[in-house]
Amino acid sequence: MPAQLLKEVEEEVTNFLSDLIRINTTNPPGNEIIAAKYLAEHLSREGFRCEFFESAPERGNVITRLKGTGEKPSLLLLSHLDVVAANAQEWSVEPFSGVVKDGFVWGRGALDMKGMIAIEAMALKLLKRNEIKLKGDVIFAATADEEQGGLLGADYLLRNHSEKIFAPYVLNEGGGLAIPTRNGNVFTVQTAEKGILWFKVKAKGIPGHGSMPNVADNAIMRMNKVVEKLGNYNSEVSLVPTVKRFLSEIAQKDPVLKEPFTHLLSNPELSDVILDELAKVAPQLAEEVRPRLRMTISPTIIRGGVKENVIPSECETVFDCRLLPGQESAQTISLIKGLLDEVNSEKLVFENMQVQESSESTAETSLYDAIDFVLREFEPNCGVTPILSTGGTDSRFFRRKGSVCYGFQPMYPEESSGEVPKREHGIDERISVENLVFGTSVLYETVKKFMS
Ligand SMILES: [Zn+2]
Repeated sequence: MPAQLLKEVEEEVTNFLSDLIRINTTNPPGNEIIAAKYLAEHLSREGFRCEFFESAPERGNVITRLKGTGEKPSLLLLSHLDVVAANAQEWSVEPFSGVVKDGFVWGRGALDMKGMIAIEAMALKLLKRNEIKLKGDVIFAATADEEQGGLLGADYLLRNHSEKIFAPYVLNEGGGLAIPTRNGNVFTVQTAEKGILWFKVKAKGIPGHGSMPNVADNAIMRMNKVVEKLGNYNSEVSLVPTVKRFLSEIAQKDPVLKEPFTHLLSNPELSDVILDELAKVAPQLAEEVRPRLRMTISPTIIRGGVKENVIPSECETVFDCRLLPGQESAQTISLIKGLLDEVNSEKLVFENMQVQESSESTAETSLYDAIDFVLREFEPNCGVTPILSTGGTDSRFFRRKGSVCYGFQPMYPEESSGEVPKREHGIDERISVENLVFGTSVLYETVKKFMS
C-alpha cells in the first residue's frame, strides 16, 4: 500500500504537543525532569519500558527502545526537551499555553523542538501498535540541555550510557523543511553543521585624562582596529560536499536559479559577485547561501571603559566564529592570531573560550535513500537535498562517534516562504497541525522503509 497521511493521529499528536509545551523547560535552568517524566509515563502506558537519567538535579533525560531482529543497524530518534526563553509581552498568545488555534499549535518549542518530540513519539507508538517487524532497534531519546550546549544531555548520555543511546544512524532536528521552487518543493535533510569557535580579544593601553588623549594610549581605539579587521575579514570560499550537492539539486529544480548556481559551482571564487546579483531577485536565498560558503567571524560583545573622563587602558571583545566542515579550529586560531599581529601583537591578548568542531555526514546511505523514497511517495514531483546548517545541534556528538546523523523534521513550508525558521527562538513560534500529521506520516514510513 502506498504511503498515506495518517489523519487518524491528528488529535493525539496535537494534544500531546500542547501538553509538552505547557511544561516550561526554559533553559537555563532547564528543569527538563518534569517533561522527561511526563514523556516516560506517556510511553509506559503504551507498554514501553523507559529509562530515566538525571544528569544533574532537575535535568532529566529519557530513553526507550523498540527491539528489532538485529539484521540491520539501529536507528536513534533523537530530540531535546529544553527550549529557549520567551518574553510573554512580545507574544500574541501565552508562550507556554500550547493553545491550538487557526490550525496551529502555538508556543515556545512548537518548532524547536517539542514538535519533533511529538512526531517521533507518535511514530514510535505506531510502530508498536501496528506490530511492524523491525530489522534493527529503534531507539527514542529525549534529552536535556541542547540549548546550552548539550553537556548535560546528549553529550552526558554518550559519555556515561553509550550502550543505551548510541546508534549508527540518527534522526534529529536541523532540517526537513521544504524549500518551495518553481517546480515543486525541495525537502531538506541536514547532513552537516558548522563548527563554533568563541574567542575573546583583550586590548591593553595606558590610562589617562579624557581631556588629554595625546598622552594616553586608548585601548578602545586599538580594539576598534581589531573589530574592523576581524569583523570584515573575508575568508576563503570553500564548497563542502553538502553545499555542492545543495546547489546542484536546487539548480536542477528551479530554472531561474540554474544559471547562478551552476556559475557558482564552477567559479566559487566569484561567489560574492554571483550572490550580489542573485540578491536582486532572491535576496533571502542569497543571504542563506552566503555564510555556507566560508568561515565567518562576528563581534558579539564589547566591553571597555570605566568613566566618562578616563581614557581606558582595557577593552575586550567577544567574537563568534563559525567554521565550515573540514576547517579545524587550531588552524583558524593561528589565522586569527596572524590577523591580530597585523594590528598590534604586543598589546592584544587572544583567549579561546569554546570550541565545537564542525561535522558532516555523507548523503550516500540507505537512510538518505529511504527518506528520498518516502518523500516522493507523498509528493512525486518533489526534490530532496542535503543542507549545511550554520548553527549547531546535538548531532555533532554522534557524528564525532561515527554515526550518520540527519536533521529531518519533515515539513511543508508554512505561511510564506522562509517564515518558519525565523520563528524558531522567535516570537509566536508555532507549527501547523497539518505539518504534525505530515511529519508523523513521513517519519513513520521512513523508519518502516529503512528497517524492512
Ligand atoms: Zn533545537
